[in-house]
Amino acid sequence: MSVKPFPEPRRFVKPSASTTRALAWSAMLALVALALAAAQDVAGVVVGPDRQPLPNIRISLYGPRQNEPAVQAAAGAAAGAQPSESHGGDALSRLRAHRRRIAETPAAPADSAAVAAPTAGAIQGAPVRDRLAQGVTDARGRFSLSVGRGQPALLALHGPDGVGRIALDKPGTASLTLVYPVRTTIVLLHDNDHHFHFGARDAIAKKLQEIRQRHDHVFLLNAGDIFMRRPNRWRPRDSEDYYAERSLFMITTMNELGYDAMTPGNHELDYIGRHTLNALGAARFPLLAANIQVSTDLLPQPLPYVTLATANDITLALLGLSTVNFKKEGVAETPPAHAVRDHLKLKDTHDVFVVLSHIGIGSDRKLAGSFDEIDVIVGGHSHTLLEEAVTVNGVLIAQAGQHNRHMGKITLELENERIVSKKGVVFPLVASPERR
Ligand SMILES: [Zn+2]
Repeated sequence: MSVKPFPEPRRFVKPSASTTRALAWSAMLALVALALAAAQDVAGVVVGPDRQPLPNIRISLYGPRQNEPAVQAAAGAAAGAQPSESHGGDALSRLRAHRRRIAETPAAPADSAAVAAPTAGAIQGAPVRDRLAQGVTDARGRFSLSVGRGQPALLALHGPDGVGRIALDKPGTASLTLVYPVRTTIVLLHDNDHHFHFGARDAIAKKLQEIRQRHDHVFLLNAGDIFMRRPNRWRPRDSEDYYAERSLFMITTMNELGYDAMTPGNHELDYIGRHTLNALGAARFPLLAANIQVSTDLLPQPLPYVTLATANDITLALLGLSTVNFKKEGVAETPPAHAVRDHLKLKDTHDVFVVLSHIGIGSDRKLAGSFDEIDVIVGGHSHTLLEEAVTVNGVLIAQAGQHNRHMGKITLELENERIVSKKGVVFPLVASPERR
């Protein structure tokens, strides 16, 4: 080995090509940051649906969310977990961590404002933002707000028909034309009762992409029974290894597709060894069931509900309901109607109240008959294919059949924070060859 005795003194290091690129990039970023800092005025005009300018609309400008919706906190807690490496204990502690994190979502600081209707801190994960500026439109509907050094993210328009909220994609946009009341379209995609079938996952991925291109606010929900608890339906029959592998496959596929929430069905609640916990623990979305009590270490305790929020802070409360149709230590159910009654406050604190149910169409209809506070019931368990969602007592009830053959699509139209129309349809999914 040769040693260089007198290395040349290095007074100047010639930057490598990558260093030059990095310097150029940071200079450019600094310029962009300066440009953004200078462009801190948000201005424009507010018009009605007839395009006439609207005077006296109070406008509040808010910064970014200070706490993310609960579902995102839950997703974050589980993100990075390697399902194939997880085992029961880890899965359980991760789920416990989700719950702690969600429960400990801090109350809003005194100088902050909850943009959404919910009282800050009272609702798990409801968005909280700092108000940066406030103003009123003039006789010609114009407004201009100076926001100092804050990062504007959302505008709230307070008028005679309530509050409309608009997310700002491009902070510092020179001139905006805003229509009041603000219309928001929310799409809820849903399926149920897969029972180990996921042949149409490629079709779902494609459809999701299409729908997300067309709509800003899309959520993907599952109403339970993705597993199959009966050993005579495993392949080969009675193979626990098959159950273990297939249940994990179902959950990881749902992770990949980006499901936002699921209610566990009776087939998930009939825990089998530690396999069920291992699979459910890998979920990067919350499991919801307000009427299920778990007292075994072999099953995660579902959350009663979560708050989902759109980019413009329309909040959806998602309450889970399920059923146990077998006798087993460690899992019990209470009547779904009691759970709904105990959570009716969600209707007052959220813009939309959705029940994600695995109790069957008959029970869904009964619930709808008793609680017109519910906006939508997304159902499962009875494997009912409702080509068009039905309305009972003003409650929209949807269900999308079984075995990954269909997906449901519910469209909610809101004017400001009020639902003005809701409808649901199902579309068939084309199965692709099973991939293992
Ligand atoms: Zn089922």
